[in-house]
Amino acid sequence: MNKLHVDYEIEVQKAEGVKCPRCWKLRGIPTNYQGICDECQQTLKEILPDLAEQGIFTQEQVAEALEKIQQCERNQLRQFVA
Ligand SMILES: [Zn+2]
Repeated sequence: MNKLHVDYEIEVQKAEGVKCPRCWKLRGIPTNYQGICDECQQTLKEILPDLAEQGIFTQEQVAEALEKIQQCERNQLRQFVA
């Protein structure tokens, strides 16, 4: 019986990028709200009103978070246009 002998190496490297604190994927964006990724930021905008309705956050907390998200987006847009 022949034995198949395979040599291999595994190299582990630290991935480039910023870890999104919400989904933990390495695609966080420092200029986004709390450094989250675009996808999470979009999701937050959609679910925050629901979370307020469910009483998980107050309307004030949600309004404040949405305002901060919009502020981040405006700042990014300014950088893009400038
Ligand atoms: Zn994310």
